[in-house]
Amino acid sequence: MYKDFQTYLQTTLNEIREAGLYKNERVIITPQSSGIQVEGGKDVINFCANNYLGLADNKELIQAAKDRMDSRGYGMASVRFICGTQDTHKQLEKVISDFFGTEDTILYAACFDANGGLFEPLLTAEDAIISDALNHASIIDGVRLCKAVRYRYANGDMADLEKQLQAAQAQRFRIIATDGVFSMDGNVCPLDQIYALAQKYNALVMVDESHSAGVVGKTGHGVTEQYNLRGKIEIITGTLGKAFGGSVGGFTTGKKEIIDLLRQRSRPYLFSNSIPPMIAAAGLKTFEILTRDNVLQDRLHANTDYFVAKMKAAGFDIKPTQSAICAVMLYDARLSQEFAAALQEEGIYVTGFYYPVVPQGQARIRVQLSAAHTVEQLDKGISAFIKVGKQLGVLK
Ligand SMILES: *Cc1c(COP(=O)(O)O)cnc(C)c1O
Repeated sequence: MYKDFQTYLQTTLNEIREAGLYKNERVIITPQSSGIQVEGGKDVINFCANNYLGLADNKELIQAAKDRMDSRGYGMASVRFICGTQDTHKQLEKVISDFFGTEDTILYAACFDANGGLFEPLLTAEDAIISDALNHASIIDGVRLCKAVRYRYANGDMADLEKQLQAAQAQRFRIIATDGVFSMDGNVCPLDQIYALAQKYNALVMVDESHSAGVVGKTGHGVTEQYNLRGKIEIITGTLGKAFGGSVGGFTTGKKEIIDLLRQRSRPYLFSNSIPPMIAAAGLKTFEILTRDNVLQDRLHANTDYFVAKMKAAGFDIKPTQSAICAVMLYDARLSQEFAAALQEEGIYVTGFYYPVVPQGQARIRVQLSAAHTVEQLDKGISAFIKVGKQLGVLK
């Protein structure tokens, strides 16, 4: 039996390779940081991590994790409701609620699970989910697992959202679901207008803050800070794997009855292990650091403004961004791969994205800025972009 299946798999893999879509993993042999070493020993400056606040190798987080592993052990060997809830988990849920100004929080092993287990317990076939077309795969999967009627609106298109909301009046309850920051362009969802439409058409709002929390808003409290909607959004999901330390863990935070029902019915919560105490403790330390002062967010915002301004001045075509994501548009798929490879030769680590990750003919290099980048590292990155840009005919 395996012989036939093997042939089928090999054919599929070859098709992926021939289409130029095969993903090779580059191996890093140092901690995640703004400066890393890849296998073979080359030092490169990293411009493609979700390490927005530079916490992935933070000494205080590492120490907090070590201390908690010493005092509370390695793992819980249980899901939360059987015997997998330690005080550390409850403390982390409390600080996440405080950070977002919400009523309660539930932790998951990842934001993929938070989104995957969100809709099905809350809505039935009588209800509707109205989802942005560019939402993250985990929201799409979560919506698929739920029996609610599905509506889709074009990315950030409020006229289209309004049309879908009108159609969705046929259902009992409605949830509008959106990413806070869309990861390919770096644009922020127009949450003020989404919220206004939700009020007008009697809908709830769900925002995934994975790329926006810690980044967007003057003090990095996410899109609800940016649009002055703190405490107004019913459901927020997010990850501990990006700005908040870069390890693992996800959460849903919001209205207390929603969180309570998720604890009773959300399948990735009920049937998957608790996050380890050391991860929860490092999470606690992350939020402690972020409430101490605004140094990291200020540095991230300054770094992003600096990089984007210099790249525009150099003549690059940059997508308008409101986050720490800077999409350098190249349009051509092959060019995006050549460009990224040439940058790696120059010691600059980035990834070129092309169809189907972005629309056909919209290939780009996505640069992600971090509070950990020094001005010297930013300058090196910009110079390398200009050098390669000239070599490959992107800049004159
Ligand atoms: C990264 C990301 C996720 C997944 O987060 P994990 O915690 O890594 O599972 C979910 N939603 C969005 C919008 C993301 O960017």
